[in-house]
Amino acid sequence: MSEFLKNCRQAIGADYVTTDTKGMTAFLTDERKRFTGKALAVLRPGNTQEVADIVQLCKQYHVPIVPQGGNTGLVFGSTPDESGKAVVLSLNRLNRIRSIDPANNTMIVEAGCILQNVHEAAEKVGRLYPLRLASEGTATIGGSLAANAGGTAVLRYGNARELCLGLEVVTAQGEIWNNLRGLRKDNSGYDLRNLFIGSEGTLGIITAAVLKLFPLPNATVTAIVAIASPKEALQLLSKAQARCDTALTAFEIMSNFSLQLVTKHFPQVTPPLPLTSPQYALIELSSGDSEEHLMTMLESVMGDALEENIVLDAALASSLAQAKTIWQLREHISVAQAMEGNNIKHDISIPVSQIPAFIAQTDKLLQAYFPKCRQVTFGHMGDGNLHYNVSAPEGESPYDFLALQPEINRVVYDSVNQFGGSIAAEHGVGTLKKDEIRHYLPEVEIRMMQTVKRALDPDNLMNPGKII
Ligand SMILES: Cc1cc2nc3c(=O)[nH]c(=O)nc-3n(C[C@H](O)[C@H](O)[C@H](O)COP(=O)(O)OP(=O)(O)OC[C@H]3O[C@@H](n4cnc5c(N)ncnc54)[C@H](O)[C@@H]3O)c2cc1C
Repeated sequence: MSEFLKNCRQAIGADYVTTDTKGMTAFLTDERKRFTGKALAVLRPGNTQEVADIVQLCKQYHVPIVPQGGNTGLVFGSTPDESGKAVVLSLNRLNRIRSIDPANNTMIVEAGCILQNVHEAAEKVGRLYPLRLASEGTATIGGSLAANAGGTAVLRYGNARELCLGLEVVTAQGEIWNNLRGLRKDNSGYDLRNLFIGSEGTLGIITAAVLKLFPLPNATVTAIVAIASPKEALQLLSKAQARCDTALTAFEIMSNFSLQLVTKHFPQVTPPLPLTSPQYALIELSSGDSEEHLMTMLESVMGDALEENIVLDAALASSLAQAKTIWQLREHISVAQAMEGNNIKHDISIPVSQIPAFIAQTDKLLQAYFPKCRQVTFGHMGDGNLHYNVSAPEGESPYDFLALQPEINRVVYDSVNQFGGSIAAEHGVGTLKKDEIRHYLPEVEIRMMQTVKRALDPDNLMNPGKII
């Protein structure tokens, strides 16, 4: 392999080929610090041609490639296995915004661009790129497209797939496919763009993308409301959708225990209403209308919901700082749960109408089989995506509790399946859910995926061992 590494150094420069353990560790360890793999090297090419040169070398020397963006993925997709045979191909030097076309409402960005930088560049020309994740300070465009990330604004704008009009990809053969035309209509054959989006680096390497932009909203209003149960959350969601239509940008739910964890581990975040109800919902409206107009709309929804006992209490943010606090309550849940100890995560989706029944049934089953386990249920109710996480009973070792993961997964995933849902909603499959999806997807679906994989990556060098 020394000849391979020598050629890599020639192709991208010796400074961008890292082989020492210290330099590689951050690239080999997953976001949740549960696993550290091994690699031959971490390679950081500086442009699309260099990515293609590296892929050709990997093909020649039969070296597997693990593409990596910000390494914030939650399914062990962006880190290599323990064999030490693969290279990690980091896209972090492909970080240029190539062009912005406000009249076409598009921008062309390279795969390694950090999401937050993309937001800022769009804002400078009065546009919005609406993919919003708590990891946006580190996650990249390439990673978010490869994972088809979702986030908190899917209800209004769709997920990463729906926000992309074209890709530039280095194929498993080391060819460059440029489809950066930014067209909203293009029916010239199979939809290859959508094949690469969500493929988690198993079919090719995304090096650039055309992103869809939207007008910057003129105003945003945010509220947190207390409710009795997910049933009332569903009623409130329907009401808000009927009254606010596309102005409804986010509708998130959070169980009381989720928020208790946030206030325990982030005491500086003060909830604007007492945490005495079983459930809370975060509602955000945004549009080109005035703030007064949005506030009137929100107050009218709340007024009716309070009168009909759908909502028990509500706090409407009266300043940017208050809106930020409400969002911090939502966005700190994952970290607060991690600070409480290791836990078992389920990123699932259910038809929105079925969420109350799913939560009621699955909560009951979990308490019957695993008494006193602590459920941390929150998520993007507006698009049917729940983070249905489970922590160890108070006082019990989180490490011992992790041993129950297969049994707990079976209870939760069987229930998801029964309600017609998906066990991999927005974080993807990686290696974490590779075996689980086989359990629930029809055989014909797995076979078609295998056929696509063999056709596009016959040597199985693109992120092998992930998804299928
Ligand atoms: C605090 C926190 C909050 C999060 N919130 C959300 C959320 O709300 N919604 C959501 O969907 N996700 C969320 N995530 C998960 C994660 O941040 C997203 O999936 C994100 O889009 C991953 O981007 P990344 O650049 O870090 O990708 P990585 O983690 O580096 O990679 C993800 C996958 O894509 C592949 N990949 C990376 N770059 C490329 C490329 N250029 N070409 C081909 N394949 C590539 C990798 O091999 C891997 O399989 C969250 C994570 C954290 C830590």
